[in-house]
Amino acid sequence: NGFVQLGLASELIAAVEDLGFTQPTAVQAHAIPRAMGASGGADGAARFVDLMVSSQTGSGKTAAFLLPVLHTLLQRQAEAAAAAKAEFQRQAAEAAARGETQPKKSKRKDPTNPRHFKAATPGALVLCPTRELAQQVAHDAIDLVKHCRGLRIANVVGGMPYQLQIARLQNADLVVATPGRLLDLQRSMQIKLDQVKFLVVDEADRMLDLGFADDLAEINQLTIERQQTMMFSATFAPRIQQLAQRVMREPQRVTI
Ligand code: AMP
Repeated sequence: NGFVQLGLASELIAAVEDLGFTQPTAVQAHAIPRAMGASGGADGAARFVDLMVSSQTGSGKTAAFLLPVLHTLLQRQAEAAAAAKAEFQRQAAEAAARGETQPKKSKRKDPTNPRHFKAATPGALVLCPTRELAQQVAHDAIDLVKHCRGLRIANVVGGMPYQLQIARLQNADLVVATPGRLLDLQRSMQIKLDQVKFLVVDEADRMLDLGFADDLAEINQLTIERQQTMMFSATFAPRIQQLAQRVMREPQRVTI
């Protein structure tokens, strides 16, 4: 399978195979390796570049941004679980040294289980201009995480019952949203965006056509600590480039 060469986690390769994808499309082959963090400087922390991608619907753009984001979320989750496990073992060793019995692993809160180590706030956010697109993207994301234990997707769009969305939002790792409803939930403090590390703006040109420029500016500020931004657009018109300058740092361009 041609996705193996891209260095994606095996859980994601398995999902791609289930979907019947055998080769990455052009936008996937170009964007996925660039979007995945390279381990960087002296501190060993991953470095991510911002990407500005021109892509049409039907090009496979959705998987081109979902796969690298999900890959990184999986990696971070594995690191958090390993750290928690090491901490548990350290405490157990200390307890044993004091002659106490080992701390019991409770079934309900097992520190070695990654499902218990999710932030209450999403680590990744995908913005879409319309409810239909957001639902499609969330659906694709759910297909792609089917082999990932404990990676949760939530969809936040207007016109759907508030309570249901809020329930799903709890513990979500990746939120796929339209800007208006997302900001409603943010203002009513149902969601906090300051833990967002990865931001994707899908169909940026339609986003501007639909008058979301101010909402995008606000979400940009609320997620200002993020590590990576990717923007997908059918065109690189001047207004898209201006938006890119506002929300990205030295973006690399991917033109298919
Ligand atoms: P998109 O451009 O993201 O809307 O994707 C268009 C369609 O292509 C969707 O139905 C995807 O499921 C499908 N698709 C995406 N990537 C691949 C691939 N690598 N091989 C075959 N089909 C794909």
